[in-house]
Amino acid sequence: MLLTILVFLVVLLLFLAAFVLLRTVRFARPLPEVEALEERLEIDAAQALAHLTRAVKVETVSYAELEKINFDRLIELHRVFERDYPLLHGTLQREVIGGSLLYTWPGKRGDLPGILLTGHLDVVPVDPETLDQWILPPFSGAVEDGVIYGRGVLDDKGSVVAVLEAVEALLRQGFTPERTVYLGFGQDEEISGLMGAREIARRLDERGVRLEAVLDEGGAIVEGTIPGVAGPVALVGTAEKGYLSLKLRAEGPGGHSSAPPARMAVYGLARALALLVETPFPARLNGVREMFRSLGPAASFPLQMAFANLWLFGGLAKKRLAQTPAGAATMRTTTAPTMLKAGIKDNILPTSAEAVVNFRILPGDTIASVCEHVRRAVNDPGIQIEAMDLATEPSPVSPDNHPAFYRLARSIREVFPGTVVAPYLVQGMTDARYYTTLSAQVYRFSPMAVSAEQLEGVHGINERLDVDAYLDMIQFYGRLISLWSQAD
Ligand SMILES: [Zn+2]
Repeated sequence: MLLTILVFLVVLLLFLAAFVLLRTVRFARPLPEVEALEERLEIDAAQALAHLTRAVKVETVSYAELEKINFDRLIELHRVFERDYPLLHGTLQREVIGGSLLYTWPGKRGDLPGILLTGHLDVVPVDPETLDQWILPPFSGAVEDGVIYGRGVLDDKGSVVAVLEAVEALLRQGFTPERTVYLGFGQDEEISGLMGAREIARRLDERGVRLEAVLDEGGAIVEGTIPGVAGPVALVGTAEKGYLSLKLRAEGPGGHSSAPPARMAVYGLARALALLVETPFPARLNGVREMFRSLGPAASFPLQMAFANLWLFGGLAKKRLAQTPAGAATMRTTTAPTMLKAGIKDNILPTSAEAVVNFRILPGDTIASVCEHVRRAVNDPGIQIEAMDLATEPSPVSPDNHPAFYRLARSIREVFPGTVVAPYLVQGMTDARYYTTLSAQVYRFSPMAVSAEQLEGVHGINERLDVDAYLDMIQFYGRLISLWSQAD
């Protein structure tokens, strides 16, 4: 009897193992092989580099305090472009929208949906206290040992200039797109995109423009940033998280602190915050799973096995991801208390206490569902909850099995051979969200091969880009424009 049970168990286990392995083997969804790009654009490297240097030198810094922004700098940057890209300015229609730019390159097939390449002209400020830590000054655009330094070379002037460079080179070759190509460069991505991308999108919408595909900044080509994944990976953002800040407010009777009452504002608020942070949003793995499907063999076998068999290893995968803040953020809406206000003197009970909690909303959750979760977690009618401005729903998820995605992936793999392309969820916000009403195919990717260390330069110290990486960006945009602008 015992033997029968044992045999039965062993057979069951073998079946289970076979099932798990089979699912693992069939899990990966590799993209078709491509050849390295042969017809490269003819680029004068020294000149292309000089153009980026000139763009970096114009200090188009965005500040949250609008009165601190020097709008003349944006106009100055427009003039730099005008001078550096004569063919482009002779062929494309240019519209100046405040400090932003919209170019239209009419295609032979104006009846078809067009394509849009977008980026932003503004940069974040440089913290004056860190100035002496820059190897080369942040607004010099200076080059040393094959590396260009400067605020914006990664975020996002490198991309904007590379796009312009690619269009100029395509025009030099006599290229005419079939679909109409739009280039949209916003002036204020770093502080909301309300004046830039939102206006550009509105103008296109008013004209009835529909887009086959949109590319904005987002992921990059990274190596060694995803644990358990080897080799260069191009992360293409197919969606971005939503944004919500809630103000939580507790009230109390106030008075002298020598005889505290049972209900105190600070305690009520602290308790609510503790409950909220200790009640995380549910974790969902569908987005991460799609990423691992595309990563395929670039991911370690245990990782492939886990994501191919979430029915069995889902709990384990969630636990593993939760070990790092970045991992946790990919699978759930995040909760982060960021501001506190209460009290004016050590011996006076404040009559109110306020906190601001910032949420980054995972696709699938909504502003309303987040508010509901907060109410339930806090479970205290004495806590007032109020949404602050700039709340944004998570973006729709763009498909990773659409021709536009395949052509994007092909452009990447032709210019950066050996790179694996995978969809992922962008944690921050980009201008791309304004264009999701114009197209279902909105992708967020900057074609930059960068190290994890270099990425720290984004909004940080020593923002820098390898000159070779910059030249590849130009090739990528050239290839993408020619593939995306095809009629079929
Ligand atoms: Zn940016």
